[in-house]
Amino acid sequence: MNSKRNSIKWKLLSISLLPTTLLGAAIFIFGIFLIYGLAADNIHDELETTTYVLKGCFDLTVRGDYTYEDGMLKKGSINISDSTMLYDIKNKSEIDTTIFWRDTRILTTVENQYGVSAAGTKADQEVARMVLEEGENFFAKRIQIDGRDFIGYYTPLQNEGGEIVGMIFAGKPTEIVYRNVGKIILWFLIFSMLAILFSSVSSRKFSKGMIKDIDLIKQYLRTISDGNLVGSIDKRITKRRDEIGEIGVYAEKMCIALKNLVELDSLTALYNRRSCNNQLKALIRENKKFTVVMCDIDWFKKINDQYGHDCGDYILTGISAMIRDSVDGCGFASRWGGEEFLLIYELDLEDVKQKVEMLAEHIRNYIFEYEEKQVRVTMTFGIKEMTGNVPYEEVIKEADDKLYTGKRNGRNQIVF
Ligand code: GH3
Ligand code: MG
Ligand code: MG
Repeated sequence: MNSKRNSIKWKLLSISLLPTTLLGAAIFIFGIFLIYGLAADNIHDELETTTYVLKGCFDLTVRGDYTYEDGMLKKGSINISDSTMLYDIKNKSEIDTTIFWRDTRILTTVENQYGVSAAGTKADQEVARMVLEEGENFFAKRIQIDGRDFIGYYTPLQNEGGEIVGMIFAGKPTEIVYRNVGKIILWFLIFSMLAILFSSVSSRKFSKGMIKDIDLIKQYLRTISDGNLVGSIDKRITKRRDEIGEIGVYAEKMCIALKNLVELDSLTALYNRRSCNNQLKALIRENKKFTVVMCDIDWFKKINDQYGHDCGDYILTGISAMIRDSVDGCGFASRWGGEEFLLIYELDLEDVKQKVEMLAEHIRNYIFEYEEKQVRVTMTFGIKEMTGNVPYEEVIKEADDKLYTGKRNGRNQIVF
């Protein structure tokens, strides 16, 4: 009846999955920027520290000014043109370092993509201006050195008098930074995917039970709409404490109300003739033995005429209650027509006689009080036991004949 896309199953799934996926994606994208930002901050500090440590090594261990002559960098009288320390740093921390004389790299671990040292190459003009001329530190998130991209930090190299003679550079190739950030992002991605998977599996599990019960209610309502009012709803649904449980309870109540509407007489709440016939057929199908009693209120027209139709209704209702009590637990009764009733006892003739005598006696002695009027009525009964394979309609006819025999013979009696 409804397309798959319109089904609650599909809607629940999209309601639960869509926000999770969108939220997951938003967290993921936000996370990437966050991780990259943190990584960049972290690298800035790392590179800054490296340049200061390197500078400190020279300044604190050797006194004197820097000079550069004949390819030899000296501090005071000590030759410091040895790259060993720079390579140690690189091996331990993947940080490339360079010592500039003016704007020229004289000691460096930076190599181009072919493995050729960048020694002898010059610094970027912008960097040279900022560091050598302005005396500022310079941090670049992306700077090209000999064809390779680096994140780098430059700091001025000064003589003891403050004269800037060169620079110290510490940097990390961006590919290494991206590789490290990529590793974190990969874990982050795996974690995000697992979170989405977990939430979708759990919401699917939750909605699956709900959808199953909605399906059961749907099937139950379909059987009712097909006119079958004897089916019952799964007790698991009516025991649920949520709205689905309530819908189940209301569906069940609706079925009972419909059944009553279809099967019961609205005034007396006894079975109507049609439903009585159905129940008789069921008894025959099940090979059950029963006795039929046809009865009718005597002179009922007179009661209506004398006390009014409403009083007549009141008496009909009262007598119906007595009849219901009489058949309770051993049969059923129906309002066969106006003031005529058909009673079915699943008892043999002798027991039924006793039951009917008690019922007739009860009615005969009962005083109906209606609007300060006291009314007494009697009834006439015809009893016929179902024997052999006689069609039940014939048994009813015989009980009816006996009832009319009783009427002819003066009413207020039982004929069997
Ligand atoms: P008898 O002893 O021969 O059965 O006499 P009677 O007057 O009971 O029979 P009759 O068939 O002449 O009249 C039946 C009356 O029952 C007529 C009708 O108005 C009344 N009746 C039928 N259905 C109802 C009902 O639902 N309410 C009321 N108040 N009266 C009803
Ligand atoms: Mg009558
Ligand atoms: Mg009648």
